[in-house]
Amino acid sequence: MKAILVREFGGLEVLKREEVPTPKPATGQVLVRIHAAGVNPYDTYMRAGTYAIKPPLPYTPGSDAAGVIEAIGDGVKKVKVGDRVYTAKTLTGAYAEYALTLEEQVHSLPEKISFGQGAGVWVPYATAYYGLHHSAEAHSSETVLVHGASGGVGTAAVQMARAMGLTVFGTAGTQKGLDLAKREGAHQVFDHSKAGYQEQILKATGGRGVDIILEMLANVNLSADLKLLATNGRVIIIGNRGEITINPRDLMSRRASARGFTLWAITPAEEAEIHAGLIAGLENGTLRPVVGKELPLAEVARAHKEVLEPGAAGKIVLVP
Ligand code: NAP
Repeated sequence: MKAILVREFGGLEVLKREEVPTPKPATGQVLVRIHAAGVNPYDTYMRAGTYAIKPPLPYTPGSDAAGVIEAIGDGVKKVKVGDRVYTAKTLTGAYAEYALTLEEQVHSLPEKISFGQGAGVWVPYATAYYGLHHSAEAHSSETVLVHGASGGVGTAAVQMARAMGLTVFGTAGTQKGLDLAKREGAHQVFDHSKAGYQEQILKATGGRGVDIILEMLANVNLSADLKLLATNGRVIIIGNRGEITINPRDLMSRRASARGFTLWAITPAEEAEIHAGLIAGLENGTLRPVVGKELPLAEVARAHKEVLEPGAAGKIVLVP
């Protein structure tokens, strides 16, 4: 099979498309024929060797894919050959024609969700779910600012928060991104590339502030975020690419908090809850992954470049 292999950490040039043996499922494992693989920002940090998790080399990137069960190992009961699934982590990597996974790493993909959309489920939607439900403990009627609403996590969070009954504000840096956030459910949108947009957000709350901020770029925004919070507000740090100075008094005066999390650290019980919630939302149409761009697997370097550029509009997915 064709697969992307990273033999050394580095720039885009270390992403090589190679011919490798198609894996065979052992006991408790399944083989998925990949129809689409999702590209997440962390895939690029991991490839560069700057991420907290460094896989043994060589490795095939990607945790998120959607496809069809091709073969199952002994003892597998959850799925059968021919089932449509999305993956939440794999054993051999999602950027390939086939991926080996544990039985528990595949989840039913509802009929109405395309493979391209299915490749955008795991990391973005689980992150949005964990951020809203577990970390922020969001309640209907609260106001959430999705700070970075045009990308994978942001569009997921907008759809989810809207369905939960929150008032949703979203930001993006292009008109296309703003339109997307609005279309997916944001009540009001703001351009984070324009000076003074934070004042507009505060004004939109009548000066009260927002209850929750889901933050995609904390190293740029955290200090200003704290000044946008209502009493008992919380900033949930999802994305961060550097350091920033904050004034803790901004938290004290609001009895507010800043919390962070990483999806890698969630418990099996939390993960089970997340998949149940996501599958229900995919089935009933409240969750609709947005595919911004489909690229052939051979264009993986372009995908890794573009996922870090401004102007997000949903997910970038690779098609083997
Ligand atoms: P993505 O699809 O590439 O989207 C990036 C988002 O960040 C876009 O909405 C982009 O908006 C926005 N952004 C750019 N500049 C911004 C600014 N100054 N202020 C606010 N937002 C800004 O990435 P993603 O998959 O949604 O992930 C978002 C971040 O969360 C990444 O850093 C990723 O590594 C991280 N993440 C963390 C976890 C975790 O477990 N904690 C899980 C998933 C993702 P425009 O392009 O419109 O400017």
